[in-house]
Amino acid sequence: MRHHPQAALPPLVLDDLNDRQSKLNRSLADKRTTDETRKARTDRAWARWKSKSRKCVEAQLKCSASAGQPRERCVYCESDGGSTIDHVEPRAKTPAKTFVWDNLVWACSPCNQGKLDKPASIVNPTKTDPLGHMMLSSTGAWVGLDPLGDNTVKTVRALDEQAMNRARLDALVTHELMLLKYCQAIARGDEREADIWKRAVLEGPFTDVFAATIRRYRDPVLQVFVSRATMKAIASRPEILDWLDVHDRARRTTGDAEVARLASKIRVPKSNRRR
Ligand SMILES: [Zn+2]
Repeated sequence: MRHHPQAALPPLVLDDLNDRQSKLNRSLADKRTTDETRKARTDRAWARWKSKSRKCVEAQLKCSASAGQPRERCVYCESDGGSTIDHVEPRAKTPAKTFVWDNLVWACSPCNQGKLDKPASIVNPTKTDPLGHMMLSSTGAWVGLDPLGDNTVKTVRALDEQAMNRARLDALVTHELMLLKYCQAIARGDEREADIWKRAVLEGPFTDVFAATIRRYRDPVLQVFVSRATMKAIASRPEILDWLDVHDRARRTTGDAEVARLASKIRVPKSNRRR
């Protein structure tokens, strides 16, 4: 899991989200409403949201989570199985955040479903860098560094699940090989091949593992956890340290353009048009 800051939504789309939240809040305001009814009303409001603004929101979320590739990442487990809008704070527990932009992320179905009945308090990867609350252990599992990190690992099963832990350890080794290949290609003056290896790291799954390696490299105390080959590769090509930030910024711009295109198709209701 790593930081996925969200780009801003076009004002028209944000207005639509805010309107929907206000309407839902009004329908839940009556204190006599039972929990069951509140849940049913929230589910209904969510299911009814099928407008073009939803397409914009989905496009922006996919772009924040994925590497601008057809494969869709899950912001929690970083696998390629992203397929759905997830509420960081589940709408069943926090209906007041059902249509709140920074509570929405792109996730895979197992991560989304798995956290439904768990505590609401987890790291929101759009607002906070998870690496401040969790670290990657030598088994490939994420481990909490504080109560919020602990809660996140307990809530999102994929963060400590045998198959995923193994896949993260494999990614660690694969990244190391790709970095070596990148350095060799640069040394030969073959920029085209170097770019292929760079993209392989940034566009493959588990960029959270790569982010964890970079974090460790930057911290003299944690450098002991970075393999000697990876240390050597980064020391010889320090631009590797900025790859992820530069790539994330570029792909958010791509997302902005796609979202603006979708937003241009939204018709403003006559009553909302400025005179
Ligand atoms: Zn997932």
